[in-house]
Amino acid sequence: MNEPSPGIVLIEDDPQIRRFLVAALEVHGYQVHEAPTAAEGLRLVAARQPDLVILDLGLPDLGGLEVIRRLREWYARPILVLSARTREQDKVAALDLGADDYLTKPFGIDELLARLRVALRHLAGRQTGDAGGRIEAGNLVIDAAARRVTKGGTDVHLTPREYQLLLALASQRGRVLTHRQLLREVWGPAHVESTHYLRIYMRALRAKIEEDPARPRWLLTEIGVGYRFADPE
Ligand code: CA
Repeated sequence: MNEPSPGIVLIEDDPQIRRFLVAALEVHGYQVHEAPTAAEGLRLVAARQPDLVILDLGLPDLGGLEVIRRLREWYARPILVLSARTREQDKVAALDLGADDYLTKPFGIDELLARLRVALRHLAGRQTGDAGGRIEAGNLVIDAAARRVTKGGTDVHLTPREYQLLLALASQRGRVLTHRQLLREVWGPAHVESTHYLRIYMRALRAKIEEDPARPRWLLTEIGVGYRFADPE
C-alpha cells in the first residue's frame, strides 16, 4: 500500500512550537505546511486544501475563533484547535463554531497523534459514508440499523433519548461533543442551554452501559466542555 501522506496546514505563531510540531508530524508521515499568522493560514488552506488544519487559538493578527468562523464558510474537513488558555469557554466556543477537537498546551506528541487519527478517521468515514451500522466497544455492541444495544450479549433497554445520546457520542467515537452540540442533536435547538438534562441522562446511561458508572470507561466527561465516547486506541 502506498497511500498519499495526509496533508496538514499548521497555523501557529510560536516558532518553537511550530518547529517542534512540523518535525514530529513529518516523522509520522504527515505532509505539513506551516503558517505563522491567521492571514497566511487562511491563504494556505485555500491553496493546499489540506486533510486537516491545526490551529492555535492565540494568533497575533486575528482571533482563532474568527479563523474557525471564516474557515467553516468553505472548509469542511477537520480543524484541531491548540489552546494555551485554560479558560473553558474558548475551547467550548471553538468546538461550537465547528472545530473538531482541541488540545490544551502543553500536550504530548502521542496525544496529538491520537487526536489526528480520530479526526482523520471521521473524515474518511464522512467521505465514504460508512459511519452507520455497528459500533463495538469492549462487550458493548450498538447496532444502529436494528436500534439495538447489547452488553455481553444481553439486551440493554434504553429510552429513546438515552439511545439518541449514546448514538450521538458513539458514532463520533473519540471526538468531544460540547453540551450545546449534544443538547441540540438529542433535544433540539430550543434546549441548548438545558445542561441539567445531559447530567441526568448521562447518569442513567452510565448506569446501564458501564461496568463501574463512577469510573466510566466509555462515556467520558470533558470537564466544563462536554462528553466524549472513548476511543479504542
Ligand atoms: Ca499563540
